[in-house]
Amino acid sequence: MIIIDGSEGEGGGQVLRYACALSLLTGEPFTIENIRRGREKPGLMRQHVTAIEAACVIGAAECSGLAVGSNSISFRPGRVTPGDYHFAVGTAGSTGLVLQTILVPLMLADAPSRLVIEGGTHAMAAPPFEFLERTLLPVVNRMGPAVSARLIRHGFFPRGGGRIEVDIAPAPLRPVDCIDRGALRSVQATAIVAGIPFDVADRELKSARKVLADWPDDAFATRQLPADHGPGNALLLEAAFENVTEIISAFGKIGVPAERLAKTAAKRMAGYLACEAFAGPYLQDQLLLPFAIARRGAFTTVKLSQHTLTAAALIDRFTGVGFRTSERSNGATVVEVTKG
Ligand code: ATP
Repeated sequence: MIIIDGSEGEGGGQVLRYACALSLLTGEPFTIENIRRGREKPGLMRQHVTAIEAACVIGAAECSGLAVGSNSISFRPGRVTPGDYHFAVGTAGSTGLVLQTILVPLMLADAPSRLVIEGGTHAMAAPPFEFLERTLLPVVNRMGPAVSARLIRHGFFPRGGGRIEVDIAPAPLRPVDCIDRGALRSVQATAIVAGIPFDVADRELKSARKVLADWPDDAFATRQLPADHGPGNALLLEAAFENVTEIISAFGKIGVPAERLAKTAAKRMAGYLACEAFAGPYLQDQLLLPFAIARRGAFTTVKLSQHTLTAAALIDRFTGVGFRTSERSNGATVVEVTKG
């Protein structure tokens, strides 16, 4: 039984999701205490409960302490069973983060799975659908499995109501090297609005354009969704390189001017474009688990995040697989799997 202190490192929900995935992959039970102690409102929120429930369902796991507000759970994994599953968060909690919990175990199962996940698809502090589809999954697919995702309906904070579908054809994970991102192929900035004034999208694009001044005019587009999909707003900045696509996102929030939100996102994109790293700040922690299971491989990335350091420490505890990091002369960090 592995005992985890949920207040360590990033101290958020990610440690829970990775612990469930690692437990299903290794057969090792765990107990976690001080869940999300690093957050303003500690304990399990609805989205974490759904993610853990999903892990229980696909992995025949037993879990005690599973309730909204709980500060501690014990998780005992069973056998992972592929199949057709439907999970609903019931709030705008992230569909992508439910997927993060069960994706790798199902990618290694002995038959395909089809998932329907309902909740938020474009909300803060989580991967938006496009990031899953165009940033994460292409790398995962290069490792062997064939995973495809479809966005059926957008779900914004606070209403949720989004829906994604995911097909997973499993395969053993083979090591890959993701060192060079290759040449820049295309760029795209999309401002999405649903049920809020259209000029929000215009203002976001104008502001992003000032920072990304060398992006062509036709790279900037607005998209209006049916009002009943909202209220909601998302700005997606996308840079497609030969070997990887980076998507930087920002989500409209009451009290935050559209211009400020767009400027911050555009500056982050400019920062990524100026360095030579393969993985941006969010892809890095999401690559650790598949890379650890492949037991070899390396990727370059921007400055390591606290999420990444926390996930690496957890992976080491469950699997004994470690990561060596080194700086390159171009400022990128190389993350390399070292077997335990
Ligand atoms: P809390 O932090 O409140 O516990 P949480 O459960 O959402 O919330 P975190 O521990 O913050 O979890 O983990 C968030 C996960 O979502 C990480 O894997 C991170 O890489 C990913 N993520 C966050 N923001 C983005 C983004 N804009 N694009 C892609 N991925 C993101």
